[in-house]
This record gives sequence, structure tokens and C-alpha cells, in this order.
Amino acid sequence: MIRSEVLREIAPILRDHLVVCNIGLPSQELHMIDDQPSNFYMLGTMGLSSSIGLGVALAQDKTVISIDGDGSVLTNFGTLPTIANNVADNFILLIVDNGSYGSTGDQPTYAGKKTSLAAVAKACGCENVIECQDKDTGGVLQQAIDSKKMTVIVCKCDSGNIKLPVITMDPVVIRDRFMKSVQA
Ligand SMILES: [Mg+2]
Repeated sequence: MIRSEVLREIAPILRDHLVVCNIGLPSQELHMIDDQPSNFYMLGTMGLSSSIGLGVALAQDKTVISIDGDGSVLTNFGTLPTIANNVADNFILLIVDNGSYGSTGDQPTYAGKKTSLAAVAKACGCENVIECQDKDTGGVLQQAIDSKKMTVIVCKCDSGNIKLPVITMDPVVIRDRFMKSVQA
């Protein structure tokens, strides 16, 4: 499965929760598959989906799912010790690890070579880290939500992209409707 197929599979689970989605194609895909006001699409700041998601989780009680990529986590490695040391049991970091920088043309990342993001997350002190295969992501994600324990999921999937349009929604609108979902 490629990332868009994983997102399509987990969309029914995501729609009931606050979602902070990684810049570029992941956000474009989620927007196309199942746009929800509770989705915060990042139109900038590569690497900060997990940081913003953790902050939202620490500030309120609703479950927050950050969808990140292997390339983005590699860009902001400091996020993993920050998450490990600031536990929010309503926070799930879902790293869709396709071993490539998908949004810039599928250049390979080190996560697709020697570096295990699950091992790095554990070494940073994250207590609940699960690496799974693409087809198992929905089940693992639902279990993590039900466990009410902060969880880092590394979903190993294939590299590849679909053709789709950019998000034309104004960032202020994305922010405002997400904030209303937080406060609802
Ligand atoms: Mg990637």
C-alpha cells in the first residue's frame, strides 16, 4: 500500500478525532479523501506536525492524532525526546514511513535504509512504540486510541504518490474551523 491507500483505510477512524496532518501530499490526500473541520492541514513548517499535535494534546483532553512522515520526523528529530518527556495520553503520533520524501519526488530517506524510527523513538524514551505494516494500521491505530496511552506508531508502507490538486482553502479558515472543533 502507498500512503494515500493507508489514509483512505484509516479515514473512518480519523474523522472522530482532532488530526494534525503533515505538510504536502499527506494533507492534500487527507483533504481529498475525507475533509473534516477537525483536520488541521499544514501548509508550511515541514517537520512540525508532531510538535503542534503534542501541544494541542497537552492543552486539552480530546484525542489528537498527528500524521507525520518519515522525512518530516528526520527533519525534526528533536520532536521525539520532547514527546517522550511530555507525556499526553490523548496523543498519538502516526508516522507514515514510506522510506521517501514523497512530496518532493520520492527521494529515499534514511528511514528506508539503516535508521529505524521506532528504535529511535524508543531510545528517546517513548514508552508505547509500535511498528506495523500498512494493512494493519487501522487496527493498531484504533487500539492506540482505546488504550488511552500516548503512542507512537510507525507504519511501514510503499513509496508512491497519486496526482491530486493542492489545498486552496485559506489557512485562516483551516485554523478557525479546527479551533472550533477543539472547543466543541
Ligand atoms: Mg515519507
